[in-house]
Amino acid sequence: MIRKLLVANRGEIACRVMRTCKRLGIRTVAVYSDADQGALHVAMADEAVRIGPAEAAQSYLSIDAIIGAAKRTGADAIHPGYGFLSERAALPEACAANGIVWVGPSANAIRRMGSKIESKRIAEQANVASVPGYHGSAQDDASLIAAAERIGFPVLIKASAGGGGRGMRRVHQAAALPEALAAARAEAQAGFGDPSLLMEKLILRPRHIEVQLAGDKHGNLVHLFERECSIQRNYQKVVEEAPAPNLAQDVRTALHAAAVKLGEAIGYDSLGTVEFILDADTANQGSGGPWFLEMNTRLQVEHPVTEEITGLDLVEWQIRIAEGERLPLSQDEITATGSAIEVRLNAEDPAKSYRPCTGGIVLFDAPIGEGVRVDTGIRPGSVVTPNYDSMLAKVIAYAPDRAEATARLSTALGDLAVLGIGSNQAFLRDIIDHPLFRSGDLSTSFLPEVYPEGWQPAGGSDDAEIAAAVLWAERVARPNAPGPWASLGGFRVFAAEAGQGRIALAVERNGETARVELSGDHGRYQLKRDGAVVKAEAAVTGSRLTLSVGGARRTYSWATEGERIWIGHEAQAAELTVRPWIETAGGGGGGAASGGGNRVTASMPGQINAIKVEVGQTVTAGETVAVLEAMKLLYSLPAPVNGKVAAVYAAAGDNVAVGAVLVEIEPEA
Ligand code: ADP
Repeated sequence: MIRKLLVANRGEIACRVMRTCKRLGIRTVAVYSDADQGALHVAMADEAVRIGPAEAAQSYLSIDAIIGAAKRTGADAIHPGYGFLSERAALPEACAANGIVWVGPSANAIRRMGSKIESKRIAEQANVASVPGYHGSAQDDASLIAAAERIGFPVLIKASAGGGGRGMRRVHQAAALPEALAAARAEAQAGFGDPSLLMEKLILRPRHIEVQLAGDKHGNLVHLFERECSIQRNYQKVVEEAPAPNLAQDVRTALHAAAVKLGEAIGYDSLGTVEFILDADTANQGSGGPWFLEMNTRLQVEHPVTEEITGLDLVEWQIRIAEGERLPLSQDEITATGSAIEVRLNAEDPAKSYRPCTGGIVLFDAPIGEGVRVDTGIRPGSVVTPNYDSMLAKVIAYAPDRAEATARLSTALGDLAVLGIGSNQAFLRDIIDHPLFRSGDLSTSFLPEVYPEGWQPAGGSDDAEIAAAVLWAERVARPNAPGPWASLGGFRVFAAEAGQGRIALAVERNGETARVELSGDHGRYQLKRDGAVVKAEAAVTGSRLTLSVGGARRTYSWATEGERIWIGHEAQAAELTVRPWIETAGGGGGGAASGGGNRVTASMPGQINAIKVEVGQTVTAGETVAVLEAMKLLYSLPAPVNGKVAAVYAAAGDNVAVGAVLVEIEPEA
C-alpha cells in the first residue's frame, strides 16, 4: 500500500495526481524549484520540499534531488507526471535502489520504447506496421540516402531519441538530403544526447490517433480506446478528443488490436500510449494505415478525454497497478460513451508567432458548467516564468455526442477568464467553432489550411473602454463598493472636482488613448465618447461585470491592479489603463496621472507616500511633486505646468480620496 506519494512534477499534472491521492487517502509531497515557491501544486500538497533553483536541470530534472526529497519526507512512492523525468529509466532504477515504489512502467520498457528506432523494431517483430521508412542501425550518409531513395520523397527525418515534436525535418528532394542529415544529426546530439536518426515517408495529410493502454504486473493488458490528436501546431498537440470522429469501425478495431499487440510484445505493465499515424485521405478505405509512430511510457497530457468517455480515473489505475494490484476491469467491462474534447490553454500569443507570454495571473476564473472540466496548476497570483512550459490549463468538455461536446467547450472557453497574461484562449475558441473542426474531417494540416496567413483575432467592438471606465468608477474610485456613493469620501471629492459629478477619463488601450466622460450614480452611468453618448447600467458580482449599453447586455470578466484594468469578454482579453484626463498646456491630455490645469490631484484613492515640493519652490512640467501609494504600488504625480508651488494640501501618510487636490501651482507667466 502506498501511504505517501511524492509527485516529481509541477503545474497542472502535479495537481491532477494529488487530487486522486487525496481521494484515495494517500498523503502527498510536492517538490518545487525557487520559481515555484508560491505555486498551486505546492499549496495543495500535504508536504513540500524545495529541490533547487529555477533551472529544471538542477531541480525537476535532478534524480538525486527527487530521491533525496522522497527520503527526507518518508514518501514511499514517486509519480513522475509527464515531461521532466517521466521517461528516464534511471529514475525507476533509483527508486528500486532506495526501496521506493515507482508509479510507472518498468525501466526496461521505458528504455526500449524511448528509442524510436528500437520501438519500430519491436513493432516489426510484433507484426505491427510502421510508417514506411528506415530505422536501421547504419547511420552513415550513404545508407540514409539510399534509404530515402527507396522510401521515395518527400521524407521526414527524425531523431531517434527525440520527443515533443522537436528535431524533425522534412526533405522534398535528394539534393537537400546531405545538408539536412548533417543538421538533424547535430540537433539530435545537442537536444537529446544521441545523434541517431530515422527516416519516414512524409504523410501529407496525416491524422494522429493514439491508443491508451493499461497493463498490470500479472500479464494483463487492455486498451482504453483511442484519442484523436490531429489538431497540431509544429508537431505539437493543440486539441485532443475521444473517440476519434469520422473513423471507420474496422480501422478503429485494427488500431486497438495493433496497440495491444505492441503492449503485449514488451510485457507493458503500467499506463502508456501507442501513437499511430494515418493518411486522412485513405484511412477509411483501408489503405492509409494505421502505422505505428512511437510509444509514450507515461500518462499523457490528454488523458482526461479518455477518463471522460470511460468514467475511469487513470491516475488511480496507475497507482493501483504500481501497488501490484490486478487491472480492476477486463476488456469487456471497459466501455466508452459520449464524446470528450480537450484544448490546451497556453500562455502564448498566437497572433504574434505564438510568442510565449510571461508574468502574473491577475484573474483565473473558470466557471465549470455541466460536462466541463478544467485541469490547472494556476490561480490568481500565480506567476508564469520562462523556465517551464507555457501550459496554463486544460479545458475539457464532455457530452453524449460530439456536436454537444463541441458546443459546451466553445461556451466554456467564452466564459473562462484568464487576465493579466496573454493566452491562446480566443485562438482555441476559433478552432472549436470552425466548420471544418465541427465536421470532424481532421488532419494535422488543419491550422495551415484554415489560417494560411496565421491566426488573427476577429475585430469588432467589444466596448472594453466603456466597461473599463465604468469599472473604474465602480471599483477603483471607490474600492469598497457597497453603500451609496454620496456617503463615500472618494465620491464627494470626485463629484466636487468634476463640477456636476462628471469626470473626464483617459482610457488607454494598445497605446491609444480615448477620452471618456463619465457621470452618473451607483450602477447607472452616462458616458460620452467620440461625441456619442451612451447610457450604461452596471452590476459587479465577484469577478464579473454585467453591463447593459443601449439595451444590449454583456458580461465581462475584470481585474484591476493599480491603474491597470483587464477586461475579458468571449475568450478575448484587453488590458487598459484608466486615469483622470488632464488638459495640458498644449491642449492634449490623458498622459499623466494627475488632474486639472494647475493643480495636482490624486488620480485614485490612496495614501500619500511623499510630497516632494514646498510652497514657493519652482517646478517644471513633468517633475514629480507627490508620490501616491495605492494597491501596493507607487504612482508619481507630476507637475502639469512650469511654475511656482502656491499651496500644498497634503502630507506624507495622509489618506486621500480620488480627485483630492494635493498641490497647487501658480503657472509661469
Ligand atoms: P515526437 O516524439 O517528437 O512527438 P512523433 O513521432 O510522435 O514525434 O510525431 C509527432 C507528430 O509529427 C505527429 O503527431 C505527426 O503530426 C507528425 N509526424 C510524425 N511522423 C510523420 C510522418 N511520417 N509524416 C507526416 N507527419 C508526421
